[in-house]
Amino acid sequence: MDDASPIEEIQTLFMSEYIRERRLGIEKAAELLAQGLYREQLREMLVKIAHGDPINNLAEYAQQVLDEDMRRHESLPPRYESKGSEHIVGATCPRCHHPNYYDKRVICPGEERYRILRADGVQIDRIAVKCQKCGEEMRIEVDCEGYK
Ligand SMILES: [Zn+2]
Repeated sequence: MDDASPIEEIQTLFMSEYIRERRLGIEKAAELLAQGLYREQLREMLVKIAHGDPINNLAEYAQQVLDEDMRRHESLPPRYESKGSEHIVGATCPRCHHPNYYDKRVICPGEERYRILRADGVQIDRIAVKCQKCGEEMRIEVDCEGYK
């Protein structure tokens, strides 16, 4: 029985002198990436192919897989600090640790809001929200300026 890990299998394919085997390696890597497995190792291996394979087609194919993987990860829920997500605030649930995301345009006009003055002089709103997974109630601090 062959009990080599998928990573080792792909590594072996990548080191093959046959183009079709290296191509197969890229296909397998793409499948695993699509499942979110071994992401760091696979990306590292694919980058080597994308920059070092003497066969242009293969190098381009590896780059495509890398780009696809990038796009897939960019489409994850926006994080508080990321660009273009100025309407979104993030809060980790204290009970189940679920990462919640709330839209200021939805939560700011609500009733459950207390305006407070923070120590650094910034006015901020404290809003009661519920965890989207377990329903735990928590208060998050949000700058609702312009959302009411
Ligand atoms: Zn929760």
